[in-house]
Amino acid sequence: MNFEELGLIKPILDALKAQGYEQPTPIQEKAIPSILQKKDLLGSAQTGTGKTAAFAIPILQNLSEKDQRTNQIKALILTPTRELAIQIEENFQAYGKHLKLKSLVIFGGVKQHAQEQQLKRGVDILIATPGRLLDFISQGIIKLHHLQIFVLDEADRMLDMGFVHDVKKILKIIPAKRQNLFFSATMPKEIANLASEILVNPVKVEV
Ligand code: AMP
Repeated sequence: MNFEELGLIKPILDALKAQGYEQPTPIQEKAIPSILQKKDLLGSAQTGTGKTAAFAIPILQNLSEKDQRTNQIKALILTPTRELAIQIEENFQAYGKHLKLKSLVIFGGVKQHAQEQQLKRGVDILIATPGRLLDFISQGIIKLHHLQIFVLDEADRMLDMGFVHDVKKILKIIPAKRQNLFFSATMPKEIANLASEILVNPVKVEV
């Protein structure tokens, strides 16, 4: 299986070539077609498996469709740490470099002004840690009315770091009709329960 056979568009194929990726990893091979079909997905995968590209690539492709409005947040990726958030955003930048979509990463522990200025310029894909996202939402700086895709990354670490309450708050705010992608390295009962609250008929991918 190669990236062409997964049905990816040329601007993305070119970007993957520039990254030096020759073929999809197992999770990419399994997840990309389902995500392109806008299905919900439950992925059991560790970091290092190529899981970020497994969701970033099809999200970029789906959001590059012609009828999409620009500069509204259409995809939200929640992740527990600043380091992961930055890495995820770098992935979106790399695979989307020939597309016109804007991605932005926000996280706590720094002044909010610079992030706020960037938000004002318009964002299609937002990568966030939960606390800073809730701060911006409560200040009316971030609105998620046009959200179509919700990704929960490293759900088990979210739980370990005490973010589940924040995640549940965010779930109450975002539109009910959306695509959900849920990734976790491990699936303890609490995580399986959270997944079943969020996902609708998910495709299950384990690597
Ligand atoms: P992740 O599991 O998302 O943290 O990705 C692990 C590493 O694999 C990252 O450095 C990616 O750039 C790299 N990677 C992802 N997909 C591929 C691929 N298809 N071929 C080669 N490297 C990849």
